[in-house]
Amino acid sequence: MLVSFTENPLDDALLRAIDACGYTVPTDIQRAAIPAALSGSDIFASAQTGTGKTAAFVIPALQRLTQPTETRGRGPRVLILTPTRELANQVTESVRNLGRFLRVRSATVVGGVAYPPQLRLLERPLDLLVATPGRLIDHMENRRADLSRVEILVLDEADRMLDLGFIDAVRSIAAATPSKRQTLLFSATLEGRVLAIAADLLRNPVEIRLSKAEDRHIGIDQCVHQADDLAHKERLLDHWLSQTELTQALIFTATKRDADRLAQTLAARGHSTAALHGDLPQRDRNRIMERMRMQHLRLLVATDVAARGLDIRTLSHVINYDLPMVAEDYIHRIGRTGRAGATGTAISFVGPGDWARLAGIERLTGARLTREIIPGLEPRQQEPRRFSGAKGKPSPHGRHRSAAPASRSRPRGTGRSPRV
Ligand code: AMP
Repeated sequence: MLVSFTENPLDDALLRAIDACGYTVPTDIQRAAIPAALSGSDIFASAQTGTGKTAAFVIPALQRLTQPTETRGRGPRVLILTPTRELANQVTESVRNLGRFLRVRSATVVGGVAYPPQLRLLERPLDLLVATPGRLIDHMENRRADLSRVEILVLDEADRMLDLGFIDAVRSIAAATPSKRQTLLFSATLEGRVLAIAADLLRNPVEIRLSKAEDRHIGIDQCVHQADDLAHKERLLDHWLSQTELTQALIFTATKRDADRLAQTLAARGHSTAALHGDLPQRDRNRIMERMRMQHLRLLVATDVAARGLDIRTLSHVINYDLPMVAEDYIHRIGRTGRAGATGTAISFVGPGDWARLAGIERLTGARLTREIIPGLEPRQQEPRRFSGAKGKPSPHGRHRSAAPASRSRPRGTGRSPRV
């Protein structure tokens, strides 16, 4: 385990870049994964987004690239697979930042953008390639991608890649790399199908399980509001948007159409809002993300796929306007706030048909989420008995509450899910 980055045999240029990124102390996942990866071991790690997992594999990958290779060819020496374009872009940015003082020839190959520029990138000699599996397979089928030099294969958010149906693609890609490669697998969960792919692709991996589900997202204050219907959800949302401590929020809806509709409604009410979903061209998505990062937008209404990999440090709130279909997505969603040690608030609206879904989330996180009731916005219905362990209690979030952050205004020790 390393206590500081300098305790690792890292290249000076890499240490300078780590410093320039403002990373003074390694995060838990970095403490565990960097030495293991530098020693050449395969890694099977559970790590949520927001834990610093990207740098945990980018740093050892870049370190490898500081050493010369004997192998001839022009294909990448490091291949990083991610489930979505957003995550690929985020990883690319991390490579750029951490590799800024190194000579790393990197490229990113994702779907939804034109082929010719990617073909030009793949024709040149490469050190590092970040790719989504579908597009990379396309290039492999057209013999444009040479993976014969890959020394390190990273599978980022492996569970999501499998959820999105990339299992065969991931296997084919791995099969096209040398079998003596090093493989680093990161996943939110280390169960189910991820175990099977790990058994196939990893050799004697160092297993890193940092925390139990209920310990994740330290620093995120979570609560749920029972919502009778859509109109009630809108009023609850209005309440939260009127809070001054809500500086920037990511609002999740179930479908793309809902995202568009809600974004239009919010914009019509004078909120600076955009919608982000898979139907938007990549260029528009990038532009919207940039506007969020620059804080030109206060609200972003998004679907799950679009929001994967988003890294907006200024997000104060995540609002689940609709609960996710899959419980694990709850963890991914709320991990968009409270990043890199900041605090955040996650609010979920539970509609009449959502109780079983909420129970699934609570089983996964191992904690009962606080039911909050806002005076004047009480639900008409009672929570179904078989799901309710306790009655909702009045919320301190009055309509005209002061600017004190939500996390601090809730009485300590009374909530059942304080800052899990
Ligand atoms: P990730 O989990 O990789 O999405 O990273 C979450 C955020 O933490 C990103 O904004 C990183 O830039 C930031 N980060 C990563 N490592 C560190 C570190 N050691 N110290 C502070 N921030 C970090």
